[in-house]
Order: sequence, then structure tokens, then C-alpha cells
Amino acid sequence: MMPGTPRILVVGGGIAGLTLAAALRRNGIEPTVVEKVARYGDVGYVITLWPMGRLVVDHLGLGDRFEALTVPINAYSTHTDGGGRLRDFDFRGRLGDDGVPRALRRSELIELLGSFGGGTEVRMTRTVAGLEQDDNAVQVRFDDGATAEFDAVVGADGIDSGIRRLVAGKVSMRCSGLRLWTWWTPGFGVAPDESHEFWGVGRYFGYNPTTGQVGCAAALRASGAPTTPTQLRDRLRGVAGQQNWMIDALGDIDRVGSFDLDDLRLPNWRFGRVVLLGDAGAAFLPTAGVGASMAMESALVLAEELSKVDAAQVPDALRRYVGRRRTRVDAVQNRSRWLIPVMQRRTRFGTALRNVMVRAMPENTVISEITRWNPQP
Ligand SMILES: Cc1cc2nc3c(=O)[nH]c(=O)nc-3n(C[C@H](O)[C@H](O)[C@H](O)COP(=O)(O)OP(=O)(O)OC[C@H]3O[C@@H](n4cnc5c(N)ncnc54)[C@H](O)[C@@H]3O)c2cc1C
Repeated sequence: MMPGTPRILVVGGGIAGLTLAAALRRNGIEPTVVEKVARYGDVGYVITLWPMGRLVVDHLGLGDRFEALTVPINAYSTHTDGGGRLRDFDFRGRLGDDGVPRALRRSELIELLGSFGGGTEVRMTRTVAGLEQDDNAVQVRFDDGATAEFDAVVGADGIDSGIRRLVAGKVSMRCSGLRLWTWWTPGFGVAPDESHEFWGVGRYFGYNPTTGQVGCAAALRASGAPTTPTQLRDRLRGVAGQQNWMIDALGDIDRVGSFDLDDLRLPNWRFGRVVLLGDAGAAFLPTAGVGASMAMESALVLAEELSKVDAAQVPDALRRYVGRRRTRVDAVQNRSRWLIPVMQRRTRFGTALRNVMVRAMPENTVISEITRWNPQP
């Protein structure tokens, strides 16, 4: 690296961290990347990327591999409890081939982003135990006792960010009171390009195809939530009509992902030479399928700003990054919050009323919401 090039530590080798590392490396900056887990293989879930996320992948030159790893979601249908049709949306008809979201497993997206430029080196099983900064640099202490000096530290360590705790203390989550479970089933007989959701009374089930298995997700109120897959199966029984076999599959599997449906908006993302990226500063509910795209867009902007400055000017670059991203991220996050009460009503009356409104809603309202966030296809 050129003398004066900022020394950058990226904490968290997830979607935001690996996008940032790739974009920095593309600009000739080799960051240090540390990741808490030993390996990425987890239960995971489907990620759908809208064109805004796809543009970032293209920018990194990974578009062809992304295309091969993903399936297009050409249509999206909502159903009532028991499987009756509520509303169908023809994404391809309204947005064109390039405007539809594309779906893949989270682990595949991580692998793709990490493969940039022959592979980003990630130091696994490593995290930051402490940091101190002055006007000139950040002194970092890793959990193995090693220390190092950096010009910028990026907390890309997700919704439960340890870097956020170090710089901002304990922060309250915004709780929806819901819990989400994810699992995988084979794709037999499932249309390979359609996403379906079943909006029940106080319960939700949805599925998304990928190039291999189908990703299933279910949500219930967190209080009194099931603690085993079979209990979950029993609580969801009947919600998905003809596709109930995906719920019955819960009786035979023990690997089910489980997430609190909470999000977070930190008023400040920058603390001197330390900055938060992705879910660490603005965590998204999965309702609109945009958290990953937002994290990736932000990573690209942060890389661009950091690539324009020398070590001394890092705080200015971080300030510009926040200025360029804040309004857009907050606006998109508002939309993913707004969807929770639409998708989940607790009472029969509330559900019936919601169903009437969803059926009456002009398709243009939905499509214009999507195109408002996305670059025009
Ligand atoms: C069930 C579910 C479905 C979703 N579906 C979609 C979707 O379809 N489309 C979409 O756009 N978004 C979706 N999202 C949201 C999306 O996953 C997140 O917005 C996105 O992953 C944020 O990226 P990130 O890099 O900030 O966090 P993450 O991807 O969570 O990465 C954080 C990384 O940091 C590591 N880490 C954590 N703590 C430390 C530490 N102390 N030290 C070092 N490393 C650490 C973690 O192990 C992880 O690798 C979904 C989320 C969930 C939960």
C-alpha cells in the first residue's frame, strides 16, 4: 500500500464487512478483517437481493457468478390463513427481468463476496476486546491479547455489534414482540420463481425458492413461543393450505434458525475514527428483504470515501459517509417497519380488515414503493 494509505480494521466478515473489504481491495487498500465465528456454516436463511444490491455485486465484478447462484423471484403471492389467495404480484410483468429480486442462501452470498479478487483474507475466531483512540489513531486490543494500531475501525459486526457496545454502550433494540424461525425443505413441486406468504391470525409462514432447497420462515408472538421444531409445527398446522407439507417437515428436522424480530436505529454511526456499518448501526427487519442491500450499498459508499483520503483525513471521510447514507437508510428502514403490522394482525377482526385493505390496494402503490428504493431497471 502507498505510504499514508489508511490502515483499516473491519470487524465482522458478514455481508457488510466482506462487501467493504472487496470494495477497498478493488481500490488498492488491503484492510484487516476479523470474524468472530470459526466457520460460516450456520442454519441460515434465504436472502433476496433487489436490484440495488445487485448493482453492488455488479460493481465488484461478481455479477455472472451471482446470476448462476440465484433464482429470479418473478412473482410474489400473499395468502390468508389456510392458503386462500389474498393478493398476487407479478414482479416481472411490472418491473421487467432486471427489476425482480433474486434469491440465494445467505452462506452463498457470503462466499461470493468473500471470493473477490482471489479471496479476501479473514481472520476467523477473532474479535476486538477493547479499543482506545486519540485524534491520530485507534489502538486495538484483540481477544487473543495481541494489539495493533489502525487509522479507522469499522464495526460491521451485525445486529449484536460488539464494537457498538464499546463505543456507544448498551443500546435498546426496537422490539416487534415477534420471533422468526427458518428452515429448509426440498423443492419438489414448488414453482422455482415464486415467493409465497401466508398471513394468518397471529401467525405467519412464507417460503422462497433458491437454486437448491426452498427456504421456509415462520413468525409467531415471542411470548409463549415454541421451544422445539415439533411445537412450532403444531402451532403452524393448517396455515399454508396445500403447502402444509413444508410445515410438517419440521417434525423430522432439528436444525431450525431462530431470530427475535427486533431492529435498531442508532442516532450516530461515527465515533471519532470508529464507524458502524450495516446492521451494527441500522438493523433491518427482514420484512421487506432490504437489509443486505442497504448494508452493501453503504459499504460501497464507505469504501469510496475511505479510498479518497490519507490516514490523517479519515474522520472527514467517515463524516461524509454518514452524510451520504443516513437519510436513505432511515427511509428504507421505515418501510420495513411499516410492514410488520400489515403482515401480522393479532385478532380475527384486525386480520379480516387487513385482508380487505390488501385486496383493495392498487398494485401500483406496491410497485411504486419498490421502484422508489431501487434504481430504475
Ligand atoms: C431471517 C432473516 C432473513 C433476512 N432476509 C433478508 C433478505 O431476504 N434480503 C435482505 O436484503 N436482507 C435480509 N435480512 C437482513 C440481512 O441479513 C441483514 O441486514 C444483513 O445480513 C446485514 O449485514 P451485516 O454484515 O451488517 O450483518 P451480518 O450479515 O449479520 O454480519 C455480521 C458478521 O459479524 C460477525 N460478528 C458478530 N459479532 C462479532 C464480533 N464481536 N467480532 C467479530 N465478528 C463479529 C458475525 O459472525 C457475522 O459474520 C434477513 C435477516 C434475517 C434475520
